[in-house]
Amino acid sequence: MARIHSRKGYKLKQIIDFKIAEINPDGRDVLLHQGIPKGVEVPERIRVLLAEGVDIFRRTAQPKGVIEEVSLNQFENTFVGEGKNIRDVILERIYPKSDHLALYVLTMGEDVSSRIEKMFNEGDYALGSMLDAVASLAADKASEVFEEFYRDYLDSEEKLNPGEFVLSYSPGYCGWHISGQKKLFDRLKPGLIGVTLNDSYLMTPLKSVSGVLVGGNKEIHIFDNNFEYCKECKHESCLDRMKRIQTI
Ligand code: SF4
Repeated sequence: MARIHSRKGYKLKQIIDFKIAEINPDGRDVLLHQGIPKGVEVPERIRVLLAEGVDIFRRTAQPKGVIEEVSLNQFENTFVGEGKNIRDVILERIYPKSDHLALYVLTMGEDVSSRIEKMFNEGDYALGSMLDAVASLAADKASEVFEEFYRDYLDSEEKLNPGEFVLSYSPGYCGWHISGQKKLFDRLKPGLIGVTLNDSYLMTPLKSVSGVLVGGNKEIHIFDNNFEYCKECKHESCLDRMKRIQTI
């Protein structure tokens, strides 16, 4: 984990180099992502593919991130984005009750994304899809590392009250329209770490994540996931996240 260089009382803005070891996903989670349930015997052929995918990821990933604290008013403008959010976005209920907000973008780097693309283009779907799963889960893990990083920063600045917690939320999920990335990019300028956004709001490199880190009382992150858009949600990742903060 990179050291924090900001001075006491100053708003945080920083580029971070992640260590591969802190974002390397668990092999069982990669297989689960590939549709192989935990506890079943994994064929030798799949184990070899997994080892190869992890090895290529370790050699080619250049994980980096950029983070910048924003005020409530500044975030309001980012959140509204291009005005395409649907009604009742869960984040709209959460962020006004927060005490701290920071925008972030992270990437696994250009090399690993182009390796995946090349494998698919050349018809090596098995290894391409294994490497894709490793890189996707590593990017998710990097978001958790960012949550921890921002929590430690707030703690070091004596800004974190007891019972406060940091969780990330991303455009394109839970009702927040993907076009929210436009204003997020305008403000954060993640070109600094080599990430760009096209007119369809697709990030390059592909294995990148954008979002906001929301710091505040644990309770603000707890909700019933019974929104209209939840009916089509396949992962319900909010349940694991809520469980995680309730056990801390
Ligand atoms: S169920 Fe899915 S869409 Fe609904 S809040 Fe949870 S993660 Fe978001």
